[in-house]
Amino acid sequence: MGARNPDIAPGRLPAAQVERNFADLHPPLSKSEALIAADRCYFCYAAPCTAACPTGIDIPRFIQSIRSGDLEGAAVAILSENVMGGMCARVCPTEVLCEQACVRNAHEEKPVDIGLLQRHATDPFLASGKQLFPRAPATGHRVAVVGGGPAGLSCAHRLAMLGHSVTVYSRDDRLGGLNEYGIAAYKTVDDFAQREVEWILGIGGIEVKTGVALGRDLSLAQLCRGYDAVFLAVGLAGVNRLGLEHEELPGVVDAVQFIAGLRQAPDRSAIPVGRHVVVIGGGMTAIDVAVQCRRLGSEEVTIVYRRGREQMGASEFEQQLAQTDGVRIRHWARPVRLVGTEHVTRIEFEGTRPGSDGRLEGTGETFALAADVVFKAIGQEMDWEGLGATSAVLEIADGRIRVDADRKTSLDNVWAGGDCVAGGKDLTVTAVQDGKLAAESIDRWLRSGRAS
Ligand SMILES: Cc1cc2nc3c(=O)[nH]c(=O)nc-3n(C[C@H](O)[C@H](O)[C@H](O)COP(=O)(O)OP(=O)(O)OC[C@H]3O[C@@H](n4cnc5c(N)ncnc54)[C@H](O)[C@@H]3O)c2cc1C
Ligand code: SF4
Repeated sequence: MGARNPDIAPGRLPAAQVERNFADLHPPLSKSEALIAADRCYFCYAAPCTAACPTGIDIPRFIQSIRSGDLEGAAVAILSENVMGGMCARVCPTEVLCEQACVRNAHEEKPVDIGLLQRHATDPFLASGKQLFPRAPATGHRVAVVGGGPAGLSCAHRLAMLGHSVTVYSRDDRLGGLNEYGIAAYKTVDDFAQREVEWILGIGGIEVKTGVALGRDLSLAQLCRGYDAVFLAVGLAGVNRLGLEHEELPGVVDAVQFIAGLRQAPDRSAIPVGRHVVVIGGGMTAIDVAVQCRRLGSEEVTIVYRRGREQMGASEFEQQLAQTDGVRIRHWARPVRLVGTEHVTRIEFEGTRPGSDGRLEGTGETFALAADVVFKAIGQEMDWEGLGATSAVLEIADGRIRVDADRKTSLDNVWAGGDCVAGGKDLTVTAVQDGKLAAESIDRWLRSGRAS
């Protein structure tokens, strides 16, 4: 991205500093810290934290197991509801999920450290490779899962556990989806995403075909003919555009693509990074790209969001993290012009405010920011073109696949889940839950004999 701009350069910080900047965001608890944290739980009846967890983990139960020294019991309680309990412990925005619901919050205390305790319970089993769930006897049914991210892997694991044979097709070379290519590097250190994938596949009965894309190498019709059921978990491969002139200028970059490169880089200090960086957006991707640029050595990083602080998709914690890292956040402004000839050099904004009908309107006031790099982080969308004829045969809602409560699509033998379905929250934990619900529904359907 910086071939023509000397202000985009690698090595803005010494390599050792960069490595320190990308160390574990929330280091694991020691045994004694875990016992102290577990002791703070009130073990509520009808626990609100469990209701707030999208995968319904019995949180008081696993914390009680930790307290009594039964880490395996704790891991089983977590992983039986959420097979990616290890990753979710690292990436869930707990401050708006389980920990927000913790009754200790109501007394203006710190909530119980549910995420850290979950990590304490699951890490040893994922590290040892010990399998905690036996497979049911083989049913003879075959299911195709398209997508190797949280939704696809969760579905594949539950189906394998229930005795079905699964084939996972993934366009990417490595499994894990955005766990591998998207989540901020300091949230998942030491190649954790791949270690978790290996543990999940360790159950057996899951064949993996990477580098194979639906719409390019195979069609939905072929899968429906070749398998008893199909689960679609292709995520969101398309990127929303700013809709501005000069959007193709070098230096105007898709944030998710940059983060994917960063996650796969063998040496982060060799990644070229801008001196003045502007990020457009208000969600987790905007925060992640901004913080990671600062940690790679960008001098000035500004996030510009078109609405106010409360409307940002990124949680309060994420916003604070960015500000602690020296990222400036400007609210109520939208980009109107990209400036540059060989390369972007500046971006102009107009102030915004809510109009009488709630829609945004321009205030007429303008300002400009110098920019070597402008990151687009205004959301992703379905890549329907890439999926070939898939859109023609499925019901669509809000640009994504329509599913019912069981994650069943409008087709008889096709289910879908994760970011590619309508109405979701676009989180790792909700994708895992979709995969689990779909697998259970597929299992009921296969056992009912309707598959033949
Ligand atoms: C930058 C970024 C940071 C994020 N940070 C967080 C976070 O901190 N916490 C959090 O909870 N959530 C976070 N999220 C959201 C979270 O990563 C997603 O909600 C989650 O990964 C969705 O899972 P999925 O399985 O639906 O899709 P994905 O993870 O996107 O996986 C899609 C899979 O489908 C495959 N695929 C795509 N197209 C095809 C095709 N045509 N044929 C075959 N395979 C295909 C891909 O190879 C991949 O394996 C973040 C998202 C982004 C973009
Ligand atoms: S999966 Fe996420 S939301 Fe659920 S208990 Fe664990 S950290 Fe909380």
